[in-house]
Amino acid sequence: MTAFVRNRLPNDLDLDTAIEEGRRAYQLDREHVFHSWSAQAHLTPMTIVAASGSYVWDGDGNRLLDFSSQMVNTNIGHQHPKVVAAIAEQANKLCTIAPAHVNDARSEAARLIAERTPGDLNKIFFTNGGADAVEHAVRMARLHTGRHKVLARYRSYHGGTDTAINLTGDPRRWPNDYGNSGVVHFSGPFLYRSAFHSADETQETERALDHLDQLIRLEGPDSFAAIILESVPGTAGIMVPPPGYLAGVREICDRYGIVYIADEVMAGFGRTGKWFAIDHFDVTPDLITFAKGVNSGYVPLGGVAINEKIAATFADRPYPGGLTYSGHPLATAAAVATINAMTEEGIVDNAARIGAEVLGPGLRDLARRHPSVGEVRGLGVFWAIELVVDQQTREPLAPYGSSSAAMNEVIAACKSSGLLPFANFNRIHAVPPCTVTESEVREGLKILDATLSLADRYVGTTVG
Ligand code: PLP
Repeated sequence: MTAFVRNRLPNDLDLDTAIEEGRRAYQLDREHVFHSWSAQAHLTPMTIVAASGSYVWDGDGNRLLDFSSQMVNTNIGHQHPKVVAAIAEQANKLCTIAPAHVNDARSEAARLIAERTPGDLNKIFFTNGGADAVEHAVRMARLHTGRHKVLARYRSYHGGTDTAINLTGDPRRWPNDYGNSGVVHFSGPFLYRSAFHSADETQETERALDHLDQLIRLEGPDSFAAIILESVPGTAGIMVPPPGYLAGVREICDRYGIVYIADEVMAGFGRTGKWFAIDHFDVTPDLITFAKGVNSGYVPLGGVAINEKIAATFADRPYPGGLTYSGHPLATAAAVATINAMTEEGIVDNAARIGAEVLGPGLRDLARRHPSVGEVRGLGVFWAIELVVDQQTREPLAPYGSSSAAMNEVIAACKSSGLLPFANFNRIHAVPPCTVTESEVREGLKILDATLSLADRYVGTTVG
C-alpha cells in the first residue's frame, strides 16, 4: 500500500498555513460543531483544507482521490473554474433578493433545467436542498389529488426533514418514525437480495409490480396521493431497476390516479451518464425532485420540476408553501454555470463513457478476483461494491443498518492509501465526479484492489 505523500496544494495555497488553520478548525469543530447523524463524543472527522477536480487534501496536506464526490454531489468536480467565477460574478452583481422578485439567474436556471427534464415538466420550484424538494413534491401531490397517503420503497433515502425521513426506507427513519405519517412502504426490485425469491430480472420486475399493485388494492387505491421512487436508489445500494419496472410503476400510477414523484436528488444531473436517471427507462414522471448535481452543491440548491397538470392546480389557487431563499441568486447562478459547463464540456457523456469502458469493467474485474465481493452494480459514475463474507449465502461484511470492525478496517485502509470512498453498511460506493478521467479511475481501482485483499481475509468468518 502506498504511504501518504505530502502534496502541494492547488491554487497556490500555502501548505504549512493550511495545516495550521486546519488544526485550529479541528479544535473548534470538536468544541462547537454539532454533527449530523452522529454520536458527538465518538467522532474524529477528517479535516479538508483544499480541493480541486477529483481530489481533496486532508488536514495534514495529504492528497486523496475523491471517490465519494462528498455526499455524491460534486458531479462537476471540485472548484470548477467556470462555476467559481459565476458565483463571484453573481456576488458582485446581486447576492440576494426575495423569491417574489424576478431575477435573471433564477429564470435562466429554470429554463435550463426544464429543457433537460422529460415530458412536460416545465415549471421549476426552487428549494434549498433535496429534503425540502421532497417535502414540497409530496405537498403538491397531496393538494393536487386531495389524498394523503404516500408510497415509498424500503431501501431508499429521501432526506432528513419530517416528511422526507418518514418516507425514507432505511434505518435512519427508525428513531424518527411517527407511525402516522401516512407513508406505506413496499419492497422494490433488488435481484441480489430479492424479497420475491426471483431467479432473474424478468421475474423480479413482474413480482415487484404485482406486490406493489396488490398493496395498493389492499390499502385503498383512492387513499394514495403519490408514490416516490429514486430512479436508481443511491445511498441504499445503487440498485438499477430491472427492465420494465419503472414503466410498470408509471402504469400503476395512471391506473389509480397516483402522482409519480421521481427522486433524482442523487441520481440526477449526469451521475448515471444521462441528465436524469429516469432517461434510461423512457418513463415520464409527474414530478422530479433534484438537488446535489444541479450545481454540484457549490451553493445549496434543490427543487421540484412540475408537469403542466399539477402546475395548473395552482394556477388560480395559491400554492401554500415557500422559502426565503427559493431560487437564491448565488445558488441559481452556480446552477446556470454548472449546467452550461456540463453541456459544453460533454461531462454527462464522460460519465457514461467512464462507466461503460473503465469503471464498470474495472469493478467487474475486481469482483471476479476478490472472494469478498458479492456483487458490483451501477451505471455511469454511480457504482456499489457489495462486500460479503460468503458469496453463496451473501452474508454481508457488516449487518444491515450497522458497521463492523472488518468494514471499518477496509474503509480506513482506503483512506490511508489515498482514496476517499462513500461507505454504507457493507457497501463501498465508487462515485467519483462525472469529470473523472480514465487515469484517475485506474488509480482508484488499484487502491480498491489492494484494500479488498483485506476484506478477503474475512471471507468464511462471522462478522458484526
Ligand atoms: N433524496 C435523495 C435520493 C438523496 O440521496 C438525498 C440526500 O442524500 C436527499 C433526498 C436529501 O437531500 P438533502 O440532503 O440535500 O436534503
